[in-house]
Parts: sequence; C-alpha cells; structure tokens
Amino acid sequence: MHVLILGGTTEARRLAELLTAAPTTGEPHPGVPLIPGLRLTTSLAGRVAAPRLPPGEVRVGGFGGAEGLAAWITAHGVDVLVDATHPFAGTISFNAARAAALARVPLLAVRRPGWTAVEGDVWHEAESLSGAAALLPSLGRRVFLTTGRSDLAVFAGLDDLWFLVRSVDAPEPPYPRRMETLLDRGPFTLDGERELLARHRIDVLVTKDSGGTATAPKLTAAREAGVPVLLVRRPPVPDGVPVVTGPAPALEWIRKAA
Ligand code: NAP
Repeated sequence: MHVLILGGTTEARRLAELLTAAPTTGEPHPGVPLIPGLRLTTSLAGRVAAPRLPPGEVRVGGFGGAEGLAAWITAHGVDVLVDATHPFAGTISFNAARAAALARVPLLAVRRPGWTAVEGDVWHEAESLSGAAALLPSLGRRVFLTTGRSDLAVFAGLDDLWFLVRSVDAPEPPYPRRMETLLDRGPFTLDGERELLARHRIDVLVTKDSGGTATAPKLTAAREAGVPVLLVRRPPVPDGVPVVTGPAPALEWIRKAA
C-alpha cells in the first residue's frame, strides 16, 4: 500500500512518524512501517530551504497542477492520498481533490482546528489577506506580521505602517518599505512573544487562523498586552473531502483504507 502525504506541516510529519512508528525526535529516521507492506511518501513544496524531514520517502517540488498530481499518483501506484498541508495552502488542497477524483484514489484532509477567542481577546477578522491589508491602517501603526514571507506583497503599499515580519526564510520583494525581519521558526514561547511585543512597541498583530499550539503564544501575549489581533480566516476544504483534525484519527482512517 502506497500512501502519499502532501505535507509541509507538523501534522504531516507526525502522521509519517506514526505510520512508520518512528520516534518524535525531529531527526531524520527511516522508521518501521506500522502497516505491513506500507510504502510512504511525503511531498513537500520546496518553499523552505532546510525543511524538517519526516521518516519515509520524501519528494520535493510542485506536480504541475491537479493533472500532474493525478499522473504522479498513477505512475507511482499511490493507493491513498492524504492532504496534510497547511490550512492556508488552498491551491494544493483544491488540486488534491481534483487529482484524487481523476486518479480514483481515496483522499483525506487533515486540518488542525482553528483558534477561538477567549475573554480579553480583541480580535478583528478578515476573509482574506487583502481584506486584512485594507483593515490594518485603522487598527494600528506598529504591526507584528506573522502571515508568512510569501504573502507580503499585499501589505507592500502600506507606507505609513511599520512592520515586524517573522518568517522561516528571508522575504523577497515586494514587501513593506518600513520593515524589520525576524528569521525564526516555531514553536514560540509566551515569554519570547511578550518580549517581542514590548521591545518593538507592537500595537497590532496580524495572523492567519493557523490553529495549533506552536504559534499560539502570540495570541496570549497580545491579549495580555491589550494588543488587537487581525485574524485572517481560512479558505474552505474542498467539497466532499472527509476531514480529520489530527494525525491520530488520520492513522485510523488509513488503517481502515488499507
Ligand atoms: P498553495 O498555494 O496551496 O500551493 C501552490 C503550489 O505549490 C501548488 O499548486 C503546488 O504546485 C505546490 N505545492 C504546494 N504544496 C505542495 C506539496 N506539499 N507538495 C508538492 N507541491 C506542493 O501552497 P502554499 O500556501 O504556497 O504552501 C506551500 C507549502 O507550504 C504547503 O505544502 C503547505 O503545507 C506549506 N505551508 C504553507 C503555509 C501557508 O501559510 N500557506 C504555512 C506553513 C506551511 P503544483 O501545482 O505545481 O503541483
């Protein structure tokens, strides 16, 4: 049985570890297949220069749209497709749904739950990044922007605002004129986030509704500091695709499909 995981997330890596009974070390590990005869491939887009690699086989780079992905599935004898990409990676998720239909393989989406506001949070919501950029000048002047380096272009024209941009790799233009870059990769600590907000006198935080714990401390730090949060809502999962919230139920689903 050949399982193809579309990855690039902690959940994808953890699912690969579960499927191969590999330890959660963060180090490359060949693992031992949990399901007899299992072949596991994780696909990465290739956006990050030095990604954390999961156990099992890894391929890197785009497939060439839904048709390319369907052709890859057929050529490599994939039996089950798992879309464990980031909740905001909407194109590949749409392609996965189309490719699964074309290649006639079952598809599962793994989506960690989004964040929910608690008492004391001041959250504003935007349906898209461009919606967030339009709203931002009314919310603050010193922005902590955590939406990722590939989404900076929509904020590029906001010359009156100052941005602290945190990303794994260095951003490339176009990006905001008044900007400082912080190269870092989660998980982040609450103390670290508190210190960042205070040191840079941040008065608004922009984030995607990524969910999960690794990057959630910024929300707590913002609540404590009375800093408003501009939350970009997720694109929908394609119609008809079953969804589970994490690696453990995904493992069960794959076992049943085996
Ligand atoms: P996207 O807009 O949905 O995808 C753009 C194109 O990148 C796709 O059409 C596909 O190219 C290729 N691609 C994306 N994910 C791939 C994968 N796992 N394996 C092979 N090709 C892939 O995706 P994105 O927002 O640029 O994100 C790229 C990757 O980074 C995703 O895998 C995602 O899990 C990860 N990531 C994204 C975010 C985010 O905020 N968007 C955050 C953390 C991690 P082809 O059409 O040529 O196949």
